[in-house]
Amino acid sequence: MDMQVPIKIVPQTAPVEDLLSRPLRELRVSVIDRCNFRCTYCMPEDSLQGRGVFLPLDKLLTDHEITDLVRAFVDLGVHKIRITGGEPLVRPGLPSLISRLAAIEGLRDIALTTNGVLLPRLATDLAEAGLSRITVSLDSLDRQVLAHMSGGKARLEDILAGIAAATAAGFKRLKINTVVQRGVNDHTVLDLLAYFRGSGHSVRLIEYMDVGNSNHWHLDQVVSSAEWVQRIGETWPIEPVSNGRPSETARRYRYLDGQGEIGLISSISQPFCGGCTRARLTADGLLYTCLFGTKGFNLMPLLRQASDPVMLRDRIRAVWLKRDDRYSEVRSELSPPRDKVEMYRMGG
Ligand code: SAM
Repeated sequence: MDMQVPIKIVPQTAPVEDLLSRPLRELRVSVIDRCNFRCTYCMPEDSLQGRGVFLPLDKLLTDHEITDLVRAFVDLGVHKIRITGGEPLVRPGLPSLISRLAAIEGLRDIALTTNGVLLPRLATDLAEAGLSRITVSLDSLDRQVLAHMSGGKARLEDILAGIAAATAAGFKRLKINTVVQRGVNDHTVLDLLAYFRGSGHSVRLIEYMDVGNSNHWHLDQVVSSAEWVQRIGETWPIEPVSNGRPSETARRYRYLDGQGEIGLISSISQPFCGGCTRARLTADGLLYTCLFGTKGFNLMPLLRQASDPVMLRDRIRAVWLKRDDRYSEVRSELSPPRDKVEMYRMGG
């Protein structure tokens, strides 16, 4: 554990906006790039050739450094962060990082995205540390489909035990993330929805995205949200829920019979770049301003050499002011395809 004195930053008032007038509001923090799954759409085993694929543990930002960085982002207008990876629960000592983050004044919401298998061990500690919300990724209830999509690593009972542990620890309303690939798991989606209807948890169907380069993405495998509205509606009538928040990634729908809500994330068919107020931080201190980015801005030297909170904040502000990313809106016009950073590096 490091015992350095926390850096105090003088609050700044003016919101920082990018070139398309989008304020900086949310931050995704990848706390580790390693994962205990090998999902075919994210980190396929055959793409991990040789040594040095993952960051050595001593290259990861320390808890203290992550806390300083998050404090700088909060000072620039961020009120909500999501802890991700890789698999964030494989980072040693995650609850103590969460408790440092929870102490940051002005930070209202700390969410976590996880595959869930380590939650039986960690959920209570995470709740006590001040974690606000949990999203668990689960692509199918069909054991064979799940095994295939996770590269042979996921067991349904482990993920369901993780969900139960989170609920028992007080995280009553989880989000369940389901990436859908046509011909792979789309035929199992209605079963998954049936399972979670009435549970208080909300399934979010995510259009398969062309993140990174290793998943051999093809448009034919995307099932659009519009198709889901129709397919689900044939079994359980649904209606849209208006939330009025342009930065919300999911369009929410409620079952008319009162059995809860679902979310549809349409990054491919209905891009939401115009409302994107999200920055991303890798586990070694690179700042990205788009999930489909190719270039990160290295904040590590500032952190490790100068450790000056004002310089850190000014550097982040300077990066955001020049932001003009809108990849999802222009993907079809880009040629040749760009060399994108893998999602497990950048943080999903
Ligand atoms: N390991 C954690 C987990 O499984 O939730 C956190 C990291 S993971 C990269 C975050 C989310 O990104 C997961 O819900 C995952 O399903 C989603 N994801 C990964 N690759 C994707 C892709 N190609 N298209 C859509 N979603 C993807």
